[in-house]
This record gives sequence, structure tokens and C-alpha cells, in this order.
Amino acid sequence: MSARVDPLSRTPAFQREVAEWFQAEGRDYPWRRTRDPYAVLVSEMMLQQTQIATVLGRRYFENWLEKFPTVEILAEAGEAELLRAWEGLGYYRRARNLQKAAQVVVREYGGVFPSSVAELQRLPGLGSYTAGAVATFAFGAAVAIVDTNIARVLARLFNFREEIDSTTGRAFLWETATALVPRKQARDYNSGLMELGQRVCTPRSPQCGGCPVQMHCAGTHHQPESLPVKRPPRSTVHLTEHVAWTVRDGSLLLHQEQGQRRQGLWKLPERPETHFLQQSAPVMASLTYTITHHRVSLRVYEAPWLIQHSSEFWHPVADLATLPMPSPYRKIINTIEF
Ligand code: SF4
Repeated sequence: MSARVDPLSRTPAFQREVAEWFQAEGRDYPWRRTRDPYAVLVSEMMLQQTQIATVLGRRYFENWLEKFPTVEILAEAGEAELLRAWEGLGYYRRARNLQKAAQVVVREYGGVFPSSVAELQRLPGLGSYTAGAVATFAFGAAVAIVDTNIARVLARLFNFREEIDSTTGRAFLWETATALVPRKQARDYNSGLMELGQRVCTPRSPQCGGCPVQMHCAGTHHQPESLPVKRPPRSTVHLTEHVAWTVRDGSLLLHQEQGQRRQGLWKLPERPETHFLQQSAPVMASLTYTITHHRVSLRVYEAPWLIQHSSEFWHPVADLATLPMPSPYRKIINTIEF
């Protein structure tokens, strides 16, 4: 393990400086104006794999709470309504888990969220980070949280030069975060540490000169931008989706996904490329999108001759706006004239 300078020897000063920096400089996000654990959980689920700017810019958080203002209402929502409200955020499993968690809170806790990390972690979809985030942001609990921003700050503070996504690395991060978290003002401290990572201790150009914890930092003189060390990323896989545009009597043929990732979402019917080549079907539109480590080319062919499969259904064009769809499909359908 790398030699460490120990910010823990000055922990009270470190804690105070992080919390005070947050009180003076912290951003006013809508989810920070509430202590409602349900609203905090919604924001945390949305922000797990989506940028703050996206969640803010398209008002996903506010719109969700207008549509599903309580756990009871979310617990009862229909699948299409749920997925449609999440559309554009991707990783739809988060929406399903959010609803399952709401159902458990209603069924087992009478609609009142538990406040301990252990109980929160038993809710569907809540790992140690999300459970800790709800505990600290909603209930002010003095518990550690480690997200990618906090992980980066901690690795640099301690000049930790092992892989943070290894067993040893994860143990280092959680043990260190736990040792550092203050008993009082944990909410401001955790928010501050996270925001330091977002705005000051950024991945490529950490602003050490303006950093409120520079005097505690062991990494500041050791190329902090080279930290944290991570396992090599998976290489990108290139795929092409060949899909059909088939309209009859004012209705579009769509396929409903049954797989894990996009279950319940509607897409244009997919066929092997040879199917379209044999018919000399013209390409009407195309776009490229990225999902996890896949780079996907989506190609839409005009195919009025397509034979309907059992998982495919006709939908009146006027109803398309109400159907949940993966964002790339929504985008490409909106570019094609009926
Ligand atoms: S001094 Fe630099 S490397 Fe250390 S925590 Fe602050 S911004 Fe990050």
C-alpha cells in the first residue's frame, strides 16, 4: 500500500473546513431543498448514472415528483407511466427498483422510510452508497458515503496509488470515509466532499490552488490528475441495429422489449441486415449512440412489406408520445415524417 500522509491526524479541522466550504459555496440543487427521504432517494437514483446537468436541464426530478409525489402513488403507478417518466435517463432498471423500493416502504413500513443504513440497504436497488446518501441527506446521519467524486478526493488526499475498484481499494475508501465523517454536520460534510470532487478536485484539472483542504492533501505535489488509479476500462464493442419502419393505416409496427435492460420499452422491429438487403430497402434515417461499453449504429429501413412477429404490435401514430421508448428510438422516430 502507498505511503500516506495522514489527514486523519487533523480530522476535526478537515471536517470543519469541508462543511464550511459547502455552507459558503455549495450549489442550490432542488434535491438539497428537501429532507423528504423519498425525494432524496429519487434524486440519488436519477444521479447514479446520469449527469447533474441532464437531470436539472430537463427537470426530471421536479417532473417525477409532480407525477409521483408520494411513495404510495409511485407504488401504484402502471409500468408504461413509470417508464415514460424515466425516458431519457436510460438504465431503466433504476426506475423499476425505485418503484419496488416504494412498494416495500408502503407494505412493510406503512409508507414511512426507515432511517438506518442497514434497513435502507434492504430496499430493492439500494447499495451501500445510496442507502448512506438517504441516511445522511434526509436524516442527517453521521455515516460515510463513497461515490466517484468522493473516491477521487480521498485517493488524492491520501495519495493512494492502488486500484480503487479492487477489493483493497474499496476497503481503503470506505474505511477512510468512515474514519473521517463527523458526528455533527455530516450532511454538509458529505455534500461538501462530494461537491469538492465535482467542482474543485476534478478528474483532469484539479484546482489545488483554490482547494479548501489543500493543507491536508498528500496528493497535491504528486500529479493528482494521475489519481485515482482504476482497472483498465473494457474495450468498446461496435454493434449495428437494423430496424424496420412499417406503417399501415396510420399505425406504426413496434416491438416490446422483454430483456432485462429495456423491459417494457417499445422499439422499431429488428431484423438481420440481409433481410433488408434482399428487399433493397432504402435507409430512411440513422444515428449512433453509446450505452455502457457499446457503440451502436441504429439504421432504419423503409419496410412496408414486413411480416409481423408475435411480439410486435400496431400503434396509432397519435399514441406514440405516450409509449415509453429508449431515447435513441424516440429521437430517430421524431426525425421521420409519417
Ligand atoms: S489539493 Fe488538489 S488534489 Fe488535493 S483534494 Fe484539493 S484539489 Fe484535490
